[in-house]
Amino acid sequence: MTGIRIGCHLSCAKGFAHMAEDARKTGADTFQFFTRNPRGGKSRDWDREDIARYGRLAAAQGIGPVIAHAPYTLNPSSGDERTRDFACRVFSEDLEKLSQVPGVLYNFHPGSHTGRGIRAGTEGTARVLNETLTRENRVPVLLETMAGKGSEIGGDFRELAEILSLVQFEEQLGVCLDTCHVWDAGYNIREDLDDVLETFDRQIGLKRLCAVHLNDSKNACGSRKDRHAKLGEGLIGFDALLRVTRHPALSHLPFVLETPNELEGYAREIRCIREGRPDAGSDLGL
Ligand code: FE
Ligand code: FE
Ligand code: ZN
Repeated sequence: MTGIRIGCHLSCAKGFAHMAEDARKTGADTFQFFTRNPRGGKSRDWDREDIARYGRLAAAQGIGPVIAHAPYTLNPSSGDERTRDFACRVFSEDLEKLSQVPGVLYNFHPGSHTGRGIRAGTEGTARVLNETLTRENRVPVLLETMAGKGSEIGGDFRELAEILSLVQFEEQLGVCLDTCHVWDAGYNIREDLDDVLETFDRQIGLKRLCAVHLNDSKNACGSRKDRHAKLGEGLIGFDALLRVTRHPALSHLPFVLETPNELEGYAREIRCIREGRPDAGSDLGL
């Protein structure tokens, strides 16, 4: 058993205290949830009582930090003003609401430039962040590394570095590394993990890295597809993903699974990673 921090993506439909309960059931000490309908719908108000109860459970269970994921249909790097305004509104509302939640990081996809070119895209994303972040904000905001599918921004570490360099309150920003996405983008974390992290360190800085999405990939390195697989059922493989969690530059970070699973499958993967064996999760009886 190691001291690594690991959990999975959870449904927030039943509130915060319920997510702490799901975390307990899956053997997790971190987790991720969508701040609202991932398709970008209207946000419900959060129940303060529920958040207070969650705070007590999280402290008792040693949960945290946790990741709040912005709806993935937002496109902050869009050239369309209404699309960008919508992203600004969602970010501002989400950050305001998340300021009540203890130990939370806010993760988002940098967006797609939709044919306008990388530089226009990174500038668009930076503009949304500059219009959203305030000096008072205490919730760290994470840019997610992306697969580079279509005109997606963030498939190359240098694109994230460029966004960071254009944001005023850049000390509030960090990066979440998604193993499926970087693999699909062409970073071979199976054979060359040290080199990939060295490149990340040179271009972005490892001190920016705040979280890892731990996923296997259905496709080859460099495929730019973004289809997640269960750990050990994809082309990255269980051993390489285990090495990610044990790497000295990464092992202190929260690891969140976004693999195609229900709670029972997640509990199994969490146990396998904690114990370091691909067969450690049979007979869980959830
Ligand atoms: Fe994501
Ligand atoms: Fe992800
Ligand atoms: Zn993905």
